[in-house]
Amino acid sequence: SLSIGIVGLPNVGKSTLFNALTKNDVLAANYPFATIEPNVGVVGVPDPRLEKLAEIFGSAKIVPATVEFVDIAGIVRGAYEGQGLGNKFLANIRETNAICQVIRVFRDPDVTHVDGSVEPLRDIETINTELILADLQTIEKALPRLEKEARTKKDRDGLALVDAVKTAQKVLDGGTTLFAGAGAAGIDLTLLRELQLLTAKPFLYVFNLDEDELADQELRARMSELVAPAEAIFLNAKIEAELIELPDEEALELLQSMGQQESGLSQLARVGFDTLGLQTFLTAGPKEARAWTIRKGATAPEAAGVIHSDFQRGFIKAEVISFEDLVEAGSMAAARTAGKVRIEGKDYVMRDGDVVEFRFNV
Ligand code: GDP
Repeated sequence: SLSIGIVGLPNVGKSTLFNALTKNDVLAANYPFATIEPNVGVVGVPDPRLEKLAEIFGSAKIVPATVEFVDIAGIVRGAYEGQGLGNKFLANIRETNAICQVIRVFRDPDVTHVDGSVEPLRDIETINTELILADLQTIEKALPRLEKEARTKKDRDGLALVDAVKTAQKVLDGGTTLFAGAGAAGIDLTLLRELQLLTAKPFLYVFNLDEDELADQELRARMSELVAPAEAIFLNAKIEAELIELPDEEALELLQSMGQQESGLSQLARVGFDTLGLQTFLTAGPKEARAWTIRKGATAPEAAGVIHSDFQRGFIKAEVISFEDLVEAGSMAAARTAGKVRIEGKDYVMRDGDVVEFRFNV
């Protein structure tokens, strides 16, 4: 499954955040026999639609989609050269599908900063520089081989790849990640996939703010601008750790007292899921109301295959209704009568929030 690596300098609140994430673990409830590594947290993607579905169908339980976070220790200056836990750091991050940088904004004289002061932009650049240098190393190593292959085989794909790699090298040399710079440089990142470049992965940012900064819209706008086109999430890691211990109602009260509607962890799960290029479709019945994970652009048979490979193999058709139409109709039977349930075939591209029943041959 796809995962998001959590990285950041020491003392920025990574562990505090990650511990809160793992306490939010839904895996234990729904997959009691799964074993996971201590540095992996699987969290539910909050989806209020599931409660509504459970109401309509009288479902006994709710199973949300999940998103996997990996706590990646060891980023220090010089990581790309193997300093500190550098090599392990790079290997771990290579295995993830997106990079979540935790950036310290909170000021606390009792918590030292590795570089002596709290400067979000400098920290973002420190981390990006390590990742960029690692990618440049990968490229320098690969380029002679790729050039030779393109020359000897004289194939157009090989030449296009060499071209793309050289353009990527220029972007990185200029101090820009491929995630941020590939578009403007006209690089097709899918071409570069075999190189497993770190900065080609999608990025998202968590800004760990002081409590009184949480509602500071001007600060938020400034930080968002620093990291665009990546998404930014604003939270206070210590408060997230407290929220997770509270009953839902009290947690909401505490959030609202700070001008927030949703916990940082919930936002992180939602935005992380989206950053991975994933979306959900929904199923519901007396047993459970459930969100299933598919990549954006998945077809109906591919979606069926997520439930069971037999469903994909024997796919006949899908009965689909949008969540909104279903709620408006009030029940599946009423929706059918109103002609709101569509019959879709094997070329149908799933939309987020489709409520589905598959028909298949066994
Ligand atoms: P890591 O090294 O990035 O994993 O950072 P930790 O999560 O271990 O946090 C380092 C220290 O900063 C700990 O003493 C935390 O309690 C503290 N800390 C984490 N988040 C916050 C925060 O939002 N505000 C303040 N004041 N301290 C925090």
